[in-house]
Amino acid sequence: MSVETQKETLGFQTEVKQLLHLMIHSLYSNKEIFLRELISNASDAVDKLRFEALSQPELLEGGAELKIRVSFDKDAKTVTLEDNGIGMSRDDVITHLGTIAKSGTADFMKNLSGDQKKDSHLIGQFGVGFYSAFIVADQVEVFSRRAGLPASEGVHWSSKGEGEFEVATVEKADRGTRIVLHLKSGEDEFADGWRLRNIIKKYSDHIALPIELPKEATPAEGEEAPALEWETVNRASALWTRPRTEVKDEEYQEFYKHIAHDFENPLSWSHNKVEGKLEYSSLLYVPARAPFDLYQREAPKGLKLYVQRVFVMDQAESFLPLYLRFIKGVVDSNDLSLNVSREILQKDPIIDSMKSALTKRVLDMLEKLAKNEPEQYKGFWKNFGQVMKEGPAEDFANKEKIAGLLRFASTHGNDGEQVVSLGEYLARAKEGQDKIYFLTGEKYEAVKDSPHLEVFRKKGIEVLLLTDRIDEWLMSYLNEFDGKSFVDVARGDLDLGNLDSEEDKKAAEEVAKTKEGLVERIKTALGDAVSEVRVSHRLTDSPAILAIGEQDLGLQMRQILEASGQKVPDSKPIFEFNPTHPLIEKLDSEQSEERFGDLSHILFDQAALAAGDSLKDPAAYVRRLNKLLVELSV
Ligand code: ADP
Repeated sequence: MSVETQKETLGFQTEVKQLLHLMIHSLYSNKEIFLRELISNASDAVDKLRFEALSQPELLEGGAELKIRVSFDKDAKTVTLEDNGIGMSRDDVITHLGTIAKSGTADFMKNLSGDQKKDSHLIGQFGVGFYSAFIVADQVEVFSRRAGLPASEGVHWSSKGEGEFEVATVEKADRGTRIVLHLKSGEDEFADGWRLRNIIKKYSDHIALPIELPKEATPAEGEEAPALEWETVNRASALWTRPRTEVKDEEYQEFYKHIAHDFENPLSWSHNKVEGKLEYSSLLYVPARAPFDLYQREAPKGLKLYVQRVFVMDQAESFLPLYLRFIKGVVDSNDLSLNVSREILQKDPIIDSMKSALTKRVLDMLEKLAKNEPEQYKGFWKNFGQVMKEGPAEDFANKEKIAGLLRFASTHGNDGEQVVSLGEYLARAKEGQDKIYFLTGEKYEAVKDSPHLEVFRKKGIEVLLLTDRIDEWLMSYLNEFDGKSFVDVARGDLDLGNLDSEEDKKAAEEVAKTKEGLVERIKTALGDAVSEVRVSHRLTDSPAILAIGEQDLGLQMRQILEASGQKVPDSKPIFEFNPTHPLIEKLDSEQSEERFGDLSHILFDQAALAAGDSLKDPAAYVRRLNKLLVELSV
């Protein structure tokens, strides 16, 4: 072994220590994946070299035949992986193999429960990468040299995975990375050609570059062992370039795990080759679970861009809209230039047409999933529904298609679960119903008994119940679906159109006429608090309700704006009362103007409470109510 200089011992970042601990304790039932993870890294390193060598061919010094070699030593109980990819400098090694760079890692670690079963799922989502070596090894050594650096600037990293690691500068003749795993006692089964070959076939067959193992050769009696020969054990062709019919589901699944750094199988995928004016292949996956950083705007996006089979960049965000950021996959273009950059991509018209075609593919794939595997789609919706709701605002052209993929809770649904599609809603709509009714609010429990729903319940009309924070905003972008417009049942002067019979309408008008005096009295009593007072035809059980003006902000948007410290435009509600309710009748016959005023205010405040709003002056409400209670009890 060559001389080591500048030796130092450094501590792992806290998150790495947590990850190591968790991994060793939760992945023991699936140990063999360490090889997949290390091969995946080696393949990425080769991709990076190939790309950088386009502009700096000298990086390929000493060998352009790119490959990964896996070998083992039964006696020493080691497994060694070697790649001739981009390699790492001393600084690279210290940051990449000592810290975790992903944003949000600390938050992720806080979410761990300590329950190993649950956490092993989470860790699968997080991706373990290099550190998975410690599942089977109690000491790991890495020898690496960054392509382009001299042989004297190799680096030797070594650790027992217990909190610290050592780095030293060493001679390394070839560029690239060699990882030596010193197997834990009891894990020697991995120092075996047959076992390694099987694992590679199982998990890494799709890796596009050759993975070689030493050829098993038994020397004939009396002869010396022959020189080591290597043989390729994987298929070594880019999976997405193969015809669809020749790729097995398991291969698609393993490829997904490689590119997505996910442990679970994807829900669905779509593999296509486009020929003609533009030529490209795409392989797009829908993951089964949301990554832990789905809501971080700067979180990595899922597409890898290749140009004529050469890897160009990760996280190619220009190929899909932001609301589809959870899609993982590969796009391989024949039209783009190999030295394309992010900046160029943003302006290139080719990209726009690829983006709209890929977007459509994803939406089609989701439609198919929803149709053929509704249970799976439910799971998809739970994980990604919130993000899909960003769609109509971002992607005007596909609004109708996205709307068809949305799922809602409803008065005819399933305990607040978001399972009702707009198609299903319309299919069971009442005869003559030409609107899609919805109500927004803070929580399902709060809206499901809202007084706004009374008339709908009476007539058996379904109302969608929207209680995600994003919903009111979403609905401001959705005007209609399948030619039917959306109507917020808490807004404006509710018109049930054909659903109200002529007699009903006439009767309502008659009643309204007889209550004109009462309307005026309440208006005077409530004064500034309301924009209008009128007789309601949406109520059956409640005495009064507050409706929002057609153009005013709804409660949800107001609360979001207020919470973010923004000034909310002042808007006053419309007070509607139920003319046949005993309390209203009592109010109508009240002689004392003072008591009339108190009662009107109490009804107003109660209506606000029933809508889930808070009171402007709760103390006044309590005072008025108590005054009435005292009068009642004497
Ligand atoms: P991830 O692959 O998710 O980034 P890892 O922990 O597996 O996380 O690896 C951390 C980093 O270490 C990689 O991003 C890469 O920069 C570097 N790395 C790991 N293995 C290799 C390798 N064989 N060659 C070059 N760099 C590597």
